[in-house]
Amino acid sequence: MFEKLKSALKPYYFKAQKLLSSDIKLENLQSTLILNYHHIVPDSIVESNLLYGYSHSTSSFESQIEWLSARFKNSLAFEDKNSFVITFDDCSIYTIEQALPILTKYNIQAYFFLVEDRIGKSIWIDDYLFWLSYVPNGSYRLFKRNYNIVDQKSRLELHHEIWREYQYAPNHQLILSEFDAQYSLSKLKSAHSIHYKRLMTLSFEDILNLKKLGHLVGFHSQTHEQLSKLNADELSKECEYSDSDIFNCNTFAVPFGSENDYNDSVISAIKNLGYKSILLNHAVKAHDKVYGRLNLPDSNDKLEIEYKIWAYINAIS
Ligand SMILES: [Zn+2]
Repeated sequence: MFEKLKSALKPYYFKAQKLLSSDIKLENLQSTLILNYHHIVPDSIVESNLLYGYSHSTSSFESQIEWLSARFKNSLAFEDKNSFVITFDDCSIYTIEQALPILTKYNIQAYFFLVEDRIGKSIWIDDYLFWLSYVPNGSYRLFKRNYNIVDQKSRLELHHEIWREYQYAPNHQLILSEFDAQYSLSKLKSAHSIHYKRLMTLSFEDILNLKKLGHLVGFHSQTHEQLSKLNADELSKECEYSDSDIFNCNTFAVPFGSENDYNDSVISAIKNLGYKSILLNHAVKAHDKVYGRLNLPDSNDKLEIEYKIWAYINAIS
């Protein structure tokens, strides 16, 4: 009941927020609006669980692109006034199948950030989210503790608990091997093959095609580790690409990219490796070639999109 009321009142809430603070206009932006997307998935596939948490349905994505294109100029430069930049991190097969036709329709050039060691494979964080989302209900022993999975809420709670543990784990393989020992990941993948395209990243051939179409392919680390917990040696290994033929721009998108996922030494290590621009995943005022990005919700409500963009511009101006 409360949820229903909340969603009915949402448009009025956004309208009121915007009216109350009408000093900043979205016309003639003095900064660049850099947007970040992860997975654009068919409307029929989106589920409300951990695996689809960073996803947009194809129809929401198109509404957002339509809204942006009508107001700002599309750009690939991070310091281009009154313009927007579209970026994708991780890049599952759906990026080509669902997002690319929309980019082509609206004549948009975008950035695609890839995890080099995982090209044409799945990224550990997706395997992690997949296992937590689809392992059958039951009792599992992880990190020497027992957990009961009974519904989506308990899956989310388990994720939060492991995520806190993970700060002290030597690497992500440890978490995945704990999962695998309790319930085989490959068995789970065969049982839920409908999620294959969400889990698999673009192939070398897909990347070549994107570059032929004029899009930029950037680096998103070797294995998608949380950079803030790596030492200097690990950092330089994780942040240096090995095959320069894959990438056609000198931009680094920080894995996860929120406040906890990087620090000053991470930023200077990336800069020392020669990257010209660094992209984060939260609201940051552009400074020294470091840029924040906005993650819009999976929504085709124009008022909500407008409010979120307005609030973001406000935060980075
Ligand atoms: Zn990522």
